[in-house]
Amino acid sequence: MKVLLSEDELRDGVKRMADEINAQLENKTLTVIAVMTGSLVLVADLIRYLSMPVQLGALLASSYRGETTRGDLEIDHAMLPDLTDERVLVVDDIFDTGHTLDNVMQRLKQLGPSEIHSAVLLQKSDCQQVQMKPDFIGFEIPDEFVVGYGLDYKNLFRNLPYVAAMESHDLTAFE
Ligand code: 5GP
Ligand code: MG
Repeated sequence: MKVLLSEDELRDGVKRMADEINAQLENKTLTVIAVMTGSLVLVADLIRYLSMPVQLGALLASSYRGETTRGDLEIDHAMLPDLTDERVLVVDDIFDTGHTLDNVMQRLKQLGPSEIHSAVLLQKSDCQQVQMKPDFIGFEIPDEFVVGYGLDYKNLFRNLPYVAAMESHDLTAFE
């Protein structure tokens, strides 16, 4: 594996993102929604830098890419608080084509929040296929498959304190 973002770089990037969120969304209560499971580590770090009152919720989004149409995203609402009239910040791990976050945002808008914003740790350069762009972005990375700091390969590596790109021999080792 090749380290792309070290622990120190991640801390600085998350802090920078929190500063922007604090500046733009100051004062009023913010409902932070973690898109599970990839954003778990980011959300845990990010919310500790936020200065407004924070409510925390989570959702699980499963897509059935390849099996059915791309728009078919199932959202598990079990850990989602009532979003009616709330100011919401949706947090995801990575914005690749953007279809997942675009879909999640459209679905949550139907639940009547007063405002809805989005933040991602990573954006892959030149992969975007949707109109929307996250409001807050930690880092731009090249189009490589990355793991660590919440991101997985076959549900492993989420606990790595850094973000690393998988190389072809890493992938074959876990086939
Ligand atoms: P999108 O719908 O933007 O193409 O894909 C977003 C989802 O695909 C992310 O939430 C993440 O779960 C997964 N994904 C995309 N790229 C990567 C990657 O490089 N590493 C990992 N671990 N997951 C990725
Ligand atoms: Mg995801």
